Amino acid sequence: MEPLQIPQSHLAYLEGPVFASLAKTGRCSWPWPTLWRPDQPREAPKPGEICLALDESQADYFLEFDTPRDMNAILDASRFVYYLESTGELALAREGSLRDVVAMRCHDATGVLSERACVPTDGSDHFGNCYTDAARDAWQAEGRLFGQLAVCGCGEPGCGATYAWLEGERCRLLVEISAAGIARIEIGPFAAVRRR
Ligand SMILES: [Zn+2]
Repeated sequence: MEPLQIPQSHLAYLEGPVFASLAKTGRCSWPWPTLWRPDQPREAPKPGEICLALDESQADYFLEFDTPRDMNAILDASRFVYYLESTGELALAREGSLRDVVAMRCHDATGVLSERACVPTDGSDHFGNCYTDAARDAWQAEGRLFGQLAVCGCGEPGCGATYAWLEGERCRLLVEISAAGIARIEIGPFAAVRRR
C-alpha cells in the first residue's frame, strides 16, 4: 500500500455552515472563488479528482501550531469530496473523515510497508526540515509522536515544519507546512525510518 498524497491544490476550505451541510446531506455548493486558499482564483476540480474538504471554522488555513489541537481538527473536520460537474456542487466521495480513512488504511495494511526517511541520519526529514530534539525525545521515550516532528533550518515553524502521527515505527500521517499553511498531507501507513 503506497502513501496517499494530498497536495495543497486539492485542499478545499469550506465555511463552517457549508461544511456542516456537506457532512449532513452529502453535497454542498462550490463557493468559487473563495473556496481555495491561498486566495487565488482556481479552476473547478477536474471530474474524478478527489479533494479533501476542511471545515474552515475548525481547521483554518493558517495553522496556529497548537498541536495536537490542530492535527485533531484536520483529522476530524474533514471529508473527501469530488466535483459534480452536472450541478456545480461538491459531493462526498466516501463516508467518514480523514481520521476514519487513516484508521481504515492502517487496519487494512498488510505485508511490508514502503519506507520513508522521515528522519534520516543527516537530521532532516524528506521535506528538508530539521528533526527537533523534543520530537526525538518524545518518540524514543513514548514510542509515539502526535505533533511537531521537524522545523525549517531557520527555526521558524511558520516558514516550514512537518507534523506527524507516529505509532512506533509506523507513520500514520504527515502534514507539511510551508508559509504557515498546509502544503501537503500524506496518509500512511508507511515505515518511518528512525534516527539512531
Ligand atoms: Zn525557514
